[in-house]
This record gives sequence, structure tokens and C-alpha cells, in this order.
Amino acid sequence: MKPFIDLKTQLAGIRGAMETAINRVLDHGLFILGPEVYLLEQQLSVFCGAKHTITCSNGTDALGLVLLAKGVGPGDAVCVPSFTYAATAEAVALQGAVPVFIDVLEDTYTMAPQSLERGIAKAKALGLRPVGIIPVDLFGQPAAYDLLQPIADFHSLWVMADAAQSFGASYQGQKVGTFADVSITSFFPAKPLGCFGDGGAIFTSDDGLASLLMSLRMHGQGEDKYDNVRIGMNARLDTLQAAVLLEKLKIFPDELKARQKTADAYNAALNGIVKTPSLRAGATSSWAQYTIFLPEGMTRSCVMAALKEVGIPSVIYYATPLHLQKAYQAYPRAEDSLPICEALADRVLSLPMSGYVDPNIPLQVCNILSKQ
Ligand SMILES: *Cc1c(COP(=O)(O)O)cnc(C)c1O
Repeated sequence: MKPFIDLKTQLAGIRGAMETAINRVLDHGLFILGPEVYLLEQQLSVFCGAKHTITCSNGTDALGLVLLAKGVGPGDAVCVPSFTYAATAEAVALQGAVPVFIDVLEDTYTMAPQSLERGIAKAKALGLRPVGIIPVDLFGQPAAYDLLQPIADFHSLWVMADAAQSFGASYQGQKVGTFADVSITSFFPAKPLGCFGDGGAIFTSDDGLASLLMSLRMHGQGEDKYDNVRIGMNARLDTLQAAVLLEKLKIFPDELKARQKTADAYNAALNGIVKTPSLRAGATSSWAQYTIFLPEGMTRSCVMAALKEVGIPSVIYYATPLHLQKAYQAYPRAEDSLPICEALADRVLSLPMSGYVDPNIPLQVCNILSKQ
């Protein structure tokens, strides 16, 4: 079976440099907030153009840290798309606030502005206080912030970009990390920029928010380690993971190009057979996933089985939208049903994607799909 995300080939190309970088940390021994952490934060800021980068333990904690900083709690409502990874809604619920599920756009699968309007109205009707929205850059493409921000502004809501899947992408020449009031990303190994464990980061241009987040990731520390001025978390990025990320960041621009090349090859091979991904005009994707939408009459389980037979893995992201999941079905939704999320869950399929996809795969997939 071919790899779904080929991290082995990636590592083979940088193994020597990676071992040197890890050994450097073993030698200096500063495992918590060592120099690599601060160097990585600087380099991430330079890469994406954010004023401040605050690294942290993982993408879920990044969401939680921002919600803590914003003082989100019981009685508050935060709008999130239903077609996303559970962490987006989980972080809201964990603070005692209420996630309100919003439908997504039919073409790009990111938060739908009209459904957002209805979700805000629904939250108010339920006696909740809408405080913020968390659009998700699904599969690597930035959400439609230019359409969502005016709605948030009108209702005085903050906007946090869940860019866990989209670091490296851009919109109108501006990089992910600079949209919204604050953005978060994840360095989970399978994300476009992944480490060798858990990791995450928060990006903002707000000086006050940045210093608050640095305190919150370190147990709410004040002047020094043993001065506690607020309730925080233990949510730092390990120095070892920062060292790994510094090496991976060096090859990341080339990997983004390779991912785009693979996406172009898939598009050319599959256009007209299935619905291929749509990017907004002016948007680029970091291609966390290359996800096709199967036409009526094509049975997803048969497609997956046929691909598997020729050694090509495929994965369903996501088989169940959050508003239909056991843990989340009691939370409010913009409408009784979220039809786009539900249709996507039944018909999407993600194909192998990384900076190292075998160039024969797109045509092989084309051959299989043509026979369905
Ligand atoms: C991966 C992911 C997260 C969570 O990131 P972790 O680092 O795994 O905690 C949050 N939101 C989305 C959309 C994700 O894909």
C-alpha cells in the first residue's frame, strides 16, 4: 500500500540535519522553552507575516488558550462550522460555552456567511450571548474571511481562524496567520507543517493578546515563574519539537510547491469524472487534504475498495458532521439540518497527499474512477 501521507520519504531527505538538530538540544538540555522555541517563533512570524507567534502544545490547546484569553465561558456562544475536526467545537464546549453549528459553502466547504447570520440569530433566540466565531480553513484553503469579518464586526464578535490545516496557504498574496483577530495552527505530524509529536502555534498582531497568551501557556505566570496572576495552562511547545520544526520549515516552501503540483495533476486527471476541489479566486491551498466529491451513482465504499486493490489508500474526512456526533448533537445549529455538511459527509473522499506523492497515482485514480 502506498502511504496516504508520505512522511518517510520526507525524513529520508533531511535525516542527517534532523539528527544534528535533535542532538544539539540533547547537548544543551534546555528542554522547556529552550532557544529553538524562540527562534522558531521568530521564523514563523517572518514566514507568514504575523507580528507575534506564540507556540504551544498542540492545535487544540491553541484554541483553548485563545478562548481563555478572551474570557469565554458559560452563557457565551461561539459559532463553528459543523464540517470540521472535533477539536474546533471541543475547545468551546470545554470552556463551558456553547458551540453553535454553522453550515458550509457548497463550493469551498468553509463557513457559509448566510448560515452564520442564522446561527447568530439562533444563539440570541436561545438566550445565549454570541461572542465570537471560529471559521475553519478546511483541507488547506483559507475560509472566506472577507465575507465573514463584516458579519462578525456588525455583531461585535471576535474572529479566530482555525488554520490547523492551512498553514502555508494565502489569500490575495497575504499568508495564513494574518487573517482574523487571531489565528491558530497545528503541527500534528499529518498537518502540512508537522513535527514528531504534538505542537501548535497562535498568530496575532495584538500586543496585549500576545503577552496574555505567553502567560496563559505557562500557568498564568506574572513577573516570573512563581508569580501566578491568572489561571492558565501547561501548554508550551517542547524544545525538541521546535528543533524538528526548524528543520522542516527549511523545506516547507518546496513541499508546498510539490503539493500544488500533485493537486494540479489530480485536477487534470479527475476533472469531469468527479467534483475536484474549488479554490476561491486569489486563494492558494496548503493541501492538507485533496478531497473529491463523488457524483450520484458512484458508491464510495466501492471506490475505496477499488483504489485499495491497486495499493492506493483513501480516507473519509469527515464521515459524520459534528452536529450529528453523539458528543455534540445536543448543541444548537443554525438550522435544524445543515444540508451541505450532511451531503459532504456522504460523498467526499480524500486521496494521498504530501510533498512526495508518486506521480503515477493521479492517472491510476483516474482509471479506477472512470470504471465506476
Ligand atoms: C488538527 C486540527 C485541530 C487540532 O490540532 P491538534 O494539534 O491535533 O490538537 C483543530 N482544528 C482542525 C480543523 C484540525 O484539523
